[in-house]
Amino acid sequence: MSELDPHLHVEQKTTQAGAAVRNVIASTFGLVPDEPGIVTTGCGREVPYAMTSSRPESVTCLSCREHAHREHLRFADQVERLGSTPGVHLTDDQVAEAAAWHRDLARRFADISPS
Ligand SMILES: [Zn+2]
Repeated sequence: MSELDPHLHVEQKTTQAGAAVRNVIASTFGLVPDEPGIVTTGCGREVPYAMTSSRPESVTCLSCREHAHREHLRFADQVERLGSTPGVHLTDDQVAEAAAWHRDLARRFADISPS
């Protein structure tokens, strides 16, 4: 494990990292996930939380960008299914907004030109 890893990664559970999702989790289940000290990344490393970002333009690790792209697309589909699950009280607007948000992130992660 390199101490000099210069890349910014994404958390492996990238789709749970976004603020919108945290808010949904908090309002649905009454929990706010703790910010962990060490996280597993999309490319399988363990790095300090500070070495990860959920902002596509900041992530420089290519494997992580690909991982996040796939995860956000998958999660957008999942949100749409979840929205019609009994017991999950999201409005159609909230579901559409969350799915659109994840598809937008997926698109930005696929655009491999971090600046
Ligand atoms: Zn990575």
